[in-house]
Amino acid sequence: MSSAVWHPFTQEALAPEPIKILSGKGAKLYTEDGRVILDAVSSWWVNIHGHSEVKIAEAIYTQATELEHVIFAGFTHAPAIQLAESLLRICPGSFNKVFYSDNGSTAVEVAIKMALQFHYNLGHDKKKIIALEGAYHGDTFGAMSVGGRSAFNGPFADKLFDVDFIPVPNESNFESVLNLFQSYLEKGDVAAFIFEPLLQGTAGMKMYKAEYLDSLIRSAKQHGVLCIADEVMTGFGRTGHLFACEYINETADVMCLSKGITGGFMPLGVTLCTSKIYQAFHSSDRMKTFFHGHSYTGNPLSCAAANASLELLLSKERQHDITRVSAFMSRFCEELKTIHSVSSPRNIGTVLAFELESDNNNYFSGIRDKIYDYAIQNGVLLRPLGNTVYLMPPYVISDDELENIRTVVLKMIKYIHDGE
Ligand code: PMP
Repeated sequence: MSSAVWHPFTQEALAPEPIKILSGKGAKLYTEDGRVILDAVSSWWVNIHGHSEVKIAEAIYTQATELEHVIFAGFTHAPAIQLAESLLRICPGSFNKVFYSDNGSTAVEVAIKMALQFHYNLGHDKKKIIALEGAYHGDTFGAMSVGGRSAFNGPFADKLFDVDFIPVPNESNFESVLNLFQSYLEKGDVAAFIFEPLLQGTAGMKMYKAEYLDSLIRSAKQHGVLCIADEVMTGFGRTGHLFACEYINETADVMCLSKGITGGFMPLGVTLCTSKIYQAFHSSDRMKTFFHGHSYTGNPLSCAAANASLELLLSKERQHDITRVSAFMSRFCEELKTIHSVSSPRNIGTVLAFELESDNNNYFSGIRDKIYDYAIQNGVLLRPLGNTVYLMPPYVISDDELENIRTVVLKMIKYIHDGE
């Protein structure tokens, strides 16, 4: 195996050699040594239509023969316009503008900068951001700053800007969380509140109720605080609805999208905002410009992939797949509730998560590697977050493949518990 490549989130001194993948089709990954692995995590949650989906591949090919890229300042093109118009139509809220970037982290960076500069342009003295404890919004510095402090960002702790964190609300703490939130809001210096709606991914697939988020957003808005919904993971059908924000009554002012947007074919980040925000930048004063952009902003291939992905996602067939996979997850969740070595089985839409107890329940839990290795040896890609196991497959996964994953997960639970 080549030693030239440095892999992400990998301690290469301890990790086994990466597995070489030759191809993928649907939920299946084909390895160089002839094995088949079911991708139960949609390859870091991006692959919603399965691997090598022909319609998206064709859209990229066609676009590449017409226009592969063009500078996005001073120029525009049809795929970017089509995608922006489609997103404005389907995203819950009253969004008015779409800003392109390259990935989930940059979608969040853009959202943070937009929110801060909104207040700056209007002459408000509001610079503070509130976020949820344990949040994960990406690996760039702004995104790390609004994320929970952890081993991931420890080496950079003194370079991260100061954020007020509130606990993730639940039945027993909700009132105190709301009080804490309000005490921060009453200081009058809060610019924005950022959250992963209903499902905190990297924190360990933590789920919380829509009514709590509605209350938080309502309070934030009463204080002129912009609400940023990070739907990078939850967007595009993951939680059963097209967007997790469809579960709430309140609406966000800014929304971040990425991951599933191109079906896993091309990197793309999107930040949507309301007209109120855009108007704070739209001025004859050049100093009010949003000075942000990347070389690949609005890349036509990415936009073409996203347009094709969206068409597939909105098709009756794919909507049926989402309902089918969600029903499987809900059934499996009920089954897991009957297994005593399984803690907190929970499910929202196509996502299922639970914990297996271990001596060390954090991200670096030794049990994590045992689960990962066992699943891979049995032909399933799971990527536990510490002792949190989750399933988040492509929507096209077949019923037989889901059954196969269920069998491996049940065997894995027994293996971890009994050492069999
Ligand atoms: N926000 C959320 C909610 C995420 O789950 C992630 C990635 N796991 C990101 C932002 C960052 O996205 P990316 O990895 O594409 O930078």
